[in-house]
Amino acid sequence: MIIYTHNDCYKKFNGHGHPERRERLESIVSSIKSSSLNVNFRDAPIADLETVSLVHPKKHIEQIFSNIPKDGVIGVEKEPYADTMLCPDSKNAILRSCGAGIAAANDLMKKNERVFCAVRPPGHHAETVRANGFCYINNIAVSARYLQKRYNVNKLAIIYFDVHHGNGTQEIFYEDQTVAYGSSHEFPLFPGTGAENETGAGNIFNATLKAGTSSKEFLELFDSKVLNPIDKFKPEVILISAGFDAHKRDPLANINLESEDFFKITKNIIDIAKTHSKGRVISFLEGGYDLQALSESIIEHLKALKPHV
Ligand SMILES: [Zn+2]
Repeated sequence: MIIYTHNDCYKKFNGHGHPERRERLESIVSSIKSSSLNVNFRDAPIADLETVSLVHPKKHIEQIFSNIPKDGVIGVEKEPYADTMLCPDSKNAILRSCGAGIAAANDLMKKNERVFCAVRPPGHHAETVRANGFCYINNIAVSARYLQKRYNVNKLAIIYFDVHHGNGTQEIFYEDQTVAYGSSHEFPLFPGTGAENETGAGNIFNATLKAGTSSKEFLELFDSKVLNPIDKFKPEVILISAGFDAHKRDPLANINLESEDFFKITKNIIDIAKTHSKGRVISFLEGGYDLQALSESIIEHLKALKPHV
Protein backbone atom coordinates (compact mmCIF):
# COMPACT_ATOMS: atom_id res chain seq x y z
CA MET A 1 0.00 0.00 0.00
CA ILE A 2 1.18 3.51 -0.87
CA ILE A 3 0.87 6.52 1.40
CA TYR A 4 1.26 9.97 -0.09
CA THR A 5 2.26 12.80 2.17
CA HIS A 6 4.66 15.75 2.02
CA ASN A 7 6.64 18.02 4.29
CA ASP A 8 4.78 21.00 2.79
CA CYS A 9 1.53 19.67 4.28
CA TYR A 10 2.96 20.21 7.78
CA LYS A 11 3.74 23.85 7.05
CA LYS A 12 0.18 25.06 6.70
CA PHE A 13 -0.52 27.12 9.81
CA ASN A 14 -4.04 28.24 10.67
CA GLY A 15 -3.27 30.27 13.81
CA HIS A 16 -2.63 29.33 17.42
CA GLY A 17 -5.36 27.19 18.95
CA HIS A 18 -6.82 26.21 15.56
CA PRO A 19 -7.95 22.55 15.54
CA GLU A 20 -6.68 21.87 11.98
CA ARG A 21 -3.00 21.80 12.91
CA ARG A 22 0.24 20.12 11.89
CA GLU A 23 0.20 17.84 14.93
CA ARG A 24 -2.72 15.96 13.36
CA LEU A 25 -0.57 14.81 10.46
CA GLU A 26 2.46 14.24 12.69
CA SER A 27 0.56 11.87 14.95
CA ILE A 28 -0.87 9.98 11.97
CA VAL A 29 2.47 9.57 10.20
CA SER A 30 4.40 8.65 13.35
CA SER A 31 1.72 6.13 14.30
CA ILE A 32 1.97 4.47 10.87
CA LYS A 33 5.78 4.46 10.98
CA SER A 34 5.87 2.81 14.39
CA SER A 35 3.28 0.19 13.39
CA SER A 36 3.95 -3.14 11.72
CA LEU A 37 2.01 -2.09 8.60
CA ASN A 38 3.89 -2.66 5.37
CA VAL A 39 3.51 0.66 3.55
CA ASN A 40 5.51 2.77 1.11
CA PHE A 41 5.64 6.48 1.82
CA ARG A 42 5.88 8.71 -1.24
CA ASP A 43 6.09 12.48 -1.68
CA ALA A 44 2.82 13.98 -2.86
CA PRO A 45 3.40 15.94 -6.10
CA ILE A 46 2.11 19.44 -6.80
CA ALA A 47 -1.26 19.32 -8.57
CA ASP A 48 -1.37 21.03 -11.96
CA LEU A 49 -4.03 23.70 -12.37
CA GLU A 50 -5.42 22.04 -15.50
CA THR A 51 -6.44 19.01 -13.46
CA VAL A 52 -7.69 21.15 -10.56
CA SER A 53 -9.86 22.99 -13.08
CA LEU A 54 -11.82 19.79 -13.75
CA VAL A 55 -13.64 20.84 -10.54
CA HIS A 56 -12.76 24.44 -9.67
CA PRO A 57 -12.49 27.32 -12.19
CA LYS A 58 -8.88 28.51 -12.48
CA LYS A 59 -9.97 32.07 -11.64
CA HIS A 60 -11.36 30.91 -8.30
CA ILE A 61 -8.15 29.07 -7.37
CA GLU A 62 -6.02 32.03 -8.46
CA GLN A 63 -8.23 34.29 -6.35
CA ILE A 64 -7.58 32.11 -3.27
CA PHE A 65 -3.83 32.13 -3.90
CA SER A 66 -3.85 35.90 -4.47
CA ASN A 67 -5.06 36.30 -0.87
CA ILE A 68 -2.07 34.46 0.61
CA PRO A 69 -0.37 36.86 3.03
CA LYS A 70 3.38 37.53 3.23
CA ASP A 71 3.23 36.90 6.96
CA GLY A 72 0.64 36.03 9.59
CA VAL A 73 -2.67 34.36 8.77
CA ILE A 74 -5.85 35.71 7.19
CA GLY A 75 -9.34 34.24 6.82
CA VAL A 76 -10.79 33.61 3.36
CA GLU A 77 -14.42 33.61 4.49
CA LYS A 78 -16.66 36.17 6.11
CA GLU A 79 -18.16 35.67 9.57
CA PRO A 80 -19.45 33.37 10.97
CA TYR A 81 -17.04 30.97 9.25
CA ALA A 82 -13.87 32.95 9.84
CA ASP A 83 -11.72 29.88 10.52
CA THR A 84 -10.64 28.93 6.96
CA MET A 85 -7.22 30.51 7.01
CA LEU A 86 -4.31 31.21 4.68
CA CYS A 87 -0.67 31.53 5.76
CA PRO A 88 2.46 32.19 3.64
CA ASP A 89 3.04 28.43 3.18
CA SER A 90 -0.51 27.61 2.10
CA LYS A 91 -0.11 27.27 -1.65
CA ASN A 92 2.10 24.20 -1.80
CA ALA A 93 0.23 22.49 1.03
CA ILE A 94 -3.06 22.97 -0.85
CA LEU A 95 -1.59 21.83 -4.19
CA ARG A 96 0.20 18.81 -2.73
CA SER A 97 -2.94 17.68 -0.90
CA CYS A 98 -4.71 17.68 -4.25
CA GLY A 99 -1.70 16.25 -6.09
CA ALA A 100 -1.67 13.26 -3.75
CA GLY A 101 -5.09 12.24 -5.02
CA ILE A 102 -4.07 12.62 -8.66
CA ALA A 103 -0.94 10.50 -8.16
CA ALA A 104 -3.04 8.00 -6.21
CA ALA A 105 -5.44 7.72 -9.16
CA ASN A 106 -2.52 6.85 -11.43
CA ASP A 107 -1.18 4.23 -9.00
CA LEU A 108 -4.60 2.71 -8.62
CA MET A 109 -5.33 2.41 -12.32
CA LYS A 110 -1.84 1.56 -13.61
CA LYS A 111 -0.55 -0.67 -10.81
CA ASN A 112 -3.72 -1.64 -8.97
CA GLU A 113 -2.27 -0.27 -5.72
CA ARG A 114 -4.47 0.92 -2.87
CA VAL A 115 -3.48 4.34 -1.62
CA PHE A 116 -4.01 6.51 1.44
CA CYS A 117 -3.48 10.27 1.09
CA ALA A 118 -2.10 11.51 4.44
CA VAL A 119 -2.45 15.18 3.64
CA ARG A 120 -3.68 18.49 4.95
CA PRO A 121 -5.52 20.73 4.27
CA PRO A 122 -8.55 18.48 3.82
CA GLY A 123 -10.97 19.00 0.93
CA HIS A 124 -14.53 17.88 1.62
CA HIS A 125 -16.03 21.28 2.52
CA ALA A 126 -14.58 23.03 -0.56
CA GLU A 127 -17.36 23.80 -3.05
CA THR A 128 -16.89 24.64 -6.74
CA VAL A 129 -16.28 28.34 -6.07
CA ARG A 130 -16.11 28.51 -2.27
CA ALA A 131 -13.33 27.69 0.19
CA ASN A 132 -14.96 26.59 3.43
CA GLY A 133 -14.43 24.58 6.63
CA PHE A 134 -10.60 24.51 6.52
CA CYS A 135 -10.80 23.33 2.84
CA TYR A 136 -9.74 25.09 -0.40
CA ILE A 137 -9.57 22.49 -3.19
CA ASN A 138 -11.85 19.47 -3.00
CA ASN A 139 -9.11 16.83 -3.23
CA ILE A 140 -11.39 13.81 -3.58
CA ALA A 141 -13.56 15.52 -6.22
CA VAL A 142 -10.53 16.37 -8.36
CA SER A 143 -9.34 12.78 -8.09
CA ALA A 144 -12.80 11.53 -9.11
CA ARG A 145 -12.99 13.81 -12.15
CA TYR A 146 -9.42 12.87 -13.12
CA LEU A 147 -10.28 9.15 -12.94
CA GLN A 148 -13.26 9.77 -15.22
CA LYS A 149 -11.34 11.86 -17.73
CA ARG A 150 -7.98 10.06 -17.84
CA TYR A 151 -9.13 6.48 -17.27
CA ASN A 152 -12.73 6.57 -18.55
CA VAL A 153 -14.14 5.39 -15.24
CA ASN A 154 -17.89 5.65 -15.70
CA LYS A 155 -19.28 5.05 -12.23
CA LEU A 156 -17.53 6.20 -9.09
CA ALA A 157 -18.63 6.14 -5.47
CA ILE A 158 -17.45 8.51 -2.78
CA ILE A 159 -18.05 7.08 0.69
CA TYR A 160 -17.79 9.50 3.52
CA PHE A 161 -17.53 9.01 7.27
CA ASP A 162 -16.19 12.35 8.49
CA VAL A 163 -18.58 13.55 11.20
CA HIS A 164 -19.28 16.84 9.37
CA HIS A 165 -21.31 16.64 6.17
CA GLY A 166 -19.21 17.08 3.01
CA ASN A 167 -21.15 20.01 1.61
CA GLY A 168 -18.50 20.63 -1.03
CA THR A 169 -18.47 17.09 -2.39
CA GLN A 170 -22.26 16.98 -2.42
CA GLU A 171 -22.51 20.33 -4.22
CA ILE A 172 -19.99 19.31 -6.89
CA PHE A 173 -21.73 16.02 -7.74
CA TYR A 174 -25.32 16.92 -6.82
CA GLU A 175 -26.94 16.29 -10.21
CA ASP A 176 -24.33 13.84 -11.50
CA GLN A 177 -25.50 10.27 -11.90
CA THR A 178 -21.98 9.06 -12.67
CA VAL A 179 -20.95 9.67 -9.05
CA ALA A 180 -22.74 8.22 -6.03
CA TYR A 181 -22.07 10.04 -2.79
CA GLY A 182 -22.89 8.28 0.48
CA SER A 183 -22.32 10.11 3.74
CA SER A 184 -22.89 9.55 7.44
CA HIS A 185 -22.59 12.67 9.57
CA GLU A 186 -23.84 14.24 12.77
CA PHE A 187 -26.90 16.39 12.11
CA PRO A 188 -27.53 19.15 12.94
CA LEU A 189 -23.89 20.26 12.99
CA PHE A 190 -21.51 22.32 10.83
CA PRO A 191 -21.91 22.89 7.88
CA GLY A 192 -25.70 22.49 8.20
CA THR A 193 -26.26 20.59 4.94
CA GLY A 194 -26.81 16.85 4.53
CA ALA A 195 -30.47 16.34 5.41
CA GLU A 196 -31.77 12.98 4.26
CA ASN A 197 -34.12 14.63 1.74
CA GLU A 198 -31.10 16.05 -0.13
CA THR A 199 -30.91 13.29 -2.71
CA GLY A 200 -29.63 15.03 -5.87
CA ALA A 201 -30.48 13.06 -8.99
CA GLY A 202 -30.96 9.95 -6.84
CA ASN A 203 -27.16 9.70 -6.45
CA ILE A 204 -26.85 11.34 -2.99
CA PHE A 205 -27.32 9.20 0.11
CA ASN A 206 -27.22 11.09 3.40
CA ALA A 207 -27.45 9.28 6.74
CA THR A 208 -27.94 11.72 9.60
CA LEU A 209 -26.68 10.82 13.07
CA LYS A 210 -28.02 12.26 16.31
CA ALA A 211 -25.59 13.58 18.91
CA GLY A 212 -24.70 10.70 21.21
CA THR A 213 -24.97 7.98 18.53
CA SER A 214 -23.26 4.77 19.71
CA SER A 215 -20.97 2.47 17.72
CA LYS A 216 -23.75 -0.05 17.22
CA GLU A 217 -26.25 2.54 16.02
CA PHE A 218 -23.64 4.09 13.73
CA LEU A 219 -22.70 0.80 12.09
CA GLU A 220 -26.36 -0.12 11.49
CA LEU A 221 -27.18 3.24 9.91
CA PHE A 222 -23.98 3.28 7.87
CA ASP A 223 -24.80 -0.17 6.55
CA SER A 224 -28.43 0.49 5.64
CA LYS A 225 -28.30 4.12 4.49
CA VAL A 226 -24.79 4.48 3.00
CA LEU A 227 -23.33 1.10 2.04
CA ASN A 228 -26.53 -0.54 0.83
CA PRO A 229 -27.28 2.06 -1.88
CA ILE A 230 -23.59 2.18 -2.91
CA ASP A 231 -23.64 -1.61 -3.25
CA LYS A 232 -26.64 -1.32 -5.58
CA PHE A 233 -24.88 1.44 -7.59
CA LYS A 234 -22.01 -0.98 -8.40
CA PRO A 235 -19.17 1.56 -8.61
CA GLU A 236 -16.05 0.85 -10.69
CA VAL A 237 -13.87 2.68 -8.16
CA ILE A 238 -14.50 3.71 -4.54
CA LEU A 239 -12.98 6.83 -3.00
CA ILE A 240 -13.17 7.28 0.77
CA SER A 241 -13.38 10.60 2.58
CA ALA A 242 -11.84 9.38 5.83
CA GLY A 243 -12.45 11.73 8.72
CA PHE A 244 -11.91 10.42 12.22
CA ASP A 245 -13.95 13.00 14.12
CA ALA A 246 -16.89 10.68 14.80
CA HIS A 247 -14.54 9.20 17.44
CA LYS A 248 -15.81 9.57 20.99
CA ARG A 249 -12.70 11.58 21.96
CA ASP A 250 -13.10 14.20 19.22
CA PRO A 251 -13.60 17.75 20.54
CA LEU A 252 -15.63 19.06 17.57
CA ALA A 253 -18.49 16.53 17.53
CA ASN A 254 -20.64 14.22 19.66
CA ILE A 255 -20.61 10.73 18.13
CA ASN A 256 -19.22 7.84 20.16
CA LEU A 257 -17.18 5.64 17.83
CA GLU A 258 -14.27 3.62 19.25
CA SER A 259 -10.97 3.39 17.37
CA GLU A 260 -11.71 -0.24 16.39
CA ASP A 261 -14.90 0.82 14.65
CA PHE A 262 -12.84 2.37 11.87
CA PHE A 263 -11.60 -1.13 11.02
CA LYS A 264 -15.19 -2.41 10.71
CA ILE A 265 -16.36 0.59 8.67
CA THR A 266 -13.40 0.32 6.28
CA LYS A 267 -13.68 -3.47 5.97
CA ASN A 268 -17.33 -3.13 4.95
CA ILE A 269 -16.35 -0.61 2.27
CA ILE A 270 -13.58 -2.90 1.02
CA ASP A 271 -16.07 -5.77 0.74
CA ILE A 272 -18.17 -3.71 -1.68
CA ALA A 273 -15.03 -2.73 -3.61
CA LYS A 274 -14.07 -6.40 -3.95
CA THR A 275 -17.54 -7.26 -5.25
CA HIS A 276 -17.97 -4.45 -7.78
CA SER A 277 -14.78 -2.42 -8.14
CA LYS A 278 -11.93 -4.96 -8.54
CA GLY A 279 -10.90 -3.93 -5.02
CA ARG A 280 -10.01 -0.42 -6.23
CA VAL A 281 -10.02 2.07 -3.35
CA ILE A 282 -8.27 5.36 -2.57
CA SER A 283 -8.70 6.93 0.85
CA PHE A 284 -8.24 10.61 1.69
CA LEU A 285 -7.62 12.07 5.13
CA GLU A 286 -10.27 14.63 5.95
CA GLY A 287 -11.04 15.68 9.57
CA GLY A 288 -10.27 14.32 13.04
CA TYR A 289 -8.99 16.59 15.77
CA ASP A 290 -8.03 14.48 18.78
CA LEU A 291 -4.45 13.30 18.40
CA GLN A 292 -4.80 10.03 20.33
CA ALA A 293 -7.98 9.15 18.44
CA LEU A 294 -6.23 9.90 15.15
CA SER A 295 -3.14 7.84 15.94
CA GLU A 296 -5.26 4.82 16.93
CA SER A 297 -7.98 5.11 14.30
CA ILE A 298 -5.61 5.49 11.37
CA ILE A 299 -4.05 2.11 12.13
CA GLU A 300 -7.49 0.46 12.24
CA HIS A 301 -8.41 2.14 8.94
CA LEU A 302 -5.20 1.07 7.19
CA LYS A 303 -5.35 -2.50 8.57
CA ALA A 304 -8.64 -2.88 6.73
CA LEU A 305 -7.55 -0.89 3.68
CA LYS A 306 -4.44 -2.92 2.92
CA PRO A 307 -4.86 -5.70 0.32
CA HIS A 308 -5.43 -9.33 1.29
CA VAL A 309 -6.98 -8.75 4.71
ZN1 LIG B 1 -15.08 16.79 10.18
